[in-house]
Amino acid sequence: MRSDIDRIPEYVPGKSIEEIKKKYGLKRIIKLASNENPYGFSPKVAEILKNQYRLNVYPPSDPGELRERIADYIGYEPEMIALSAGMDGVLESVFKMLIDPGDAVCYAPPTFPYYSILSRIYRANEVWLKRNSNYRMAEYVKGAKLTIICTPNNPTGNSEDFDFVREVVESVRGYVFIDEAYAEFAERDMLKLAEYENVIIGRTFSKAFGLANLRIGYGIMHPSLRKAFMRVNPPFSLSSVAISAALAALEDIDWMKETVRKIVYGRGWLHSELEKIAKPVKSDANFIFFETEITSRDLAERLERRGVIIRSLRNFDGAGENAVRVSVGTEEQNKIFIDTLREVLCSR
Ligand SMILES: *Cc1c(COP(=O)(O)O)cnc(C)c1O
Repeated sequence: MRSDIDRIPEYVPGKSIEEIKKKYGLKRIIKLASNENPYGFSPKVAEILKNQYRLNVYPPSDPGELRERIADYIGYEPEMIALSAGMDGVLESVFKMLIDPGDAVCYAPPTFPYYSILSRIYRANEVWLKRNSNYRMAEYVKGAKLTIICTPNNPTGNSEDFDFVREVVESVRGYVFIDEAYAEFAERDMLKLAEYENVIIGRTFSKAFGLANLRIGYGIMHPSLRKAFMRVNPPFSLSSVAISAALAALEDIDWMKETVRKIVYGRGWLHSELEKIAKPVKSDANFIFFETEITSRDLAERLERRGVIIRSLRNFDGAGENAVRVSVGTEEQNKIFIDTLREVLCSR
């Protein structure tokens, strides 16, 4: 065993419906803890799932057609698209490709916990950057080997300013990873910055496209970076089922956009309801960060007892004691969540 294994935190996923059902003996549970798309995926994806797949043979290692369709979707060349098992897979391969032990990896808490986990696995020198009062990044480090910018940021939901991100890209000596897992829910994106040779933009089919279970992520990067990436990325990262599902999802972008429209509408409703009883932050993603008077652990538990799972941010460095994150659900789920939250906060 490596000597620093205990320094690597476990990834703590959102609690599952089965877990809470069993614990409290409840019938109806709603899960708003993992930023999944409550409307699921396009009916075109459901169609391909009826196909017979030759599961005894390996999938293509670097599926060209999928890279072409993704290239059409985002407006870059297929030579700039690298696929992996979810954006988590992309992130890991980026660390493998760039990080020597001791290199500075900079990011701004509270943010996606996997950056910290990877920094420790790859023995990087983790540097925490400050955020200002509206959760925008307030600084960067010129000498950083890798700066990670999550926009919209998980868990706070705010976007970074385009000009700020461009300034970081143009000022640092190293690379900038822009995590755009939630770009489809925001009005603006950072795609234009993929023109810089030191930029990698991470995207995923897990959130807006509703395919979290199939593990499909991609990085947009300069072709020379892609070559290095492919040396370290595990072969056969995407199953044929995942490849076909992603292609089908891209054939039906209107369907995804319609679910995004509904989620953005729900987000507006949730925010205005939350404002009456808690302190929510304006979100450009499919979730809302908010604080109440009670600790996140307490709040999450009281909601779970009543069949509503949200995310306590206890294991998100820098989120504070009282912050939680709720994913935007369907209209009905949002109503149940607000009613239950009101009950919890008022019955004390
Ligand atoms: C969900 C998420 C990811 C990872 O998504 P995959 O399911 O691995 O594609 C990456 N970054 C952020 C900020 C996320 O919230």
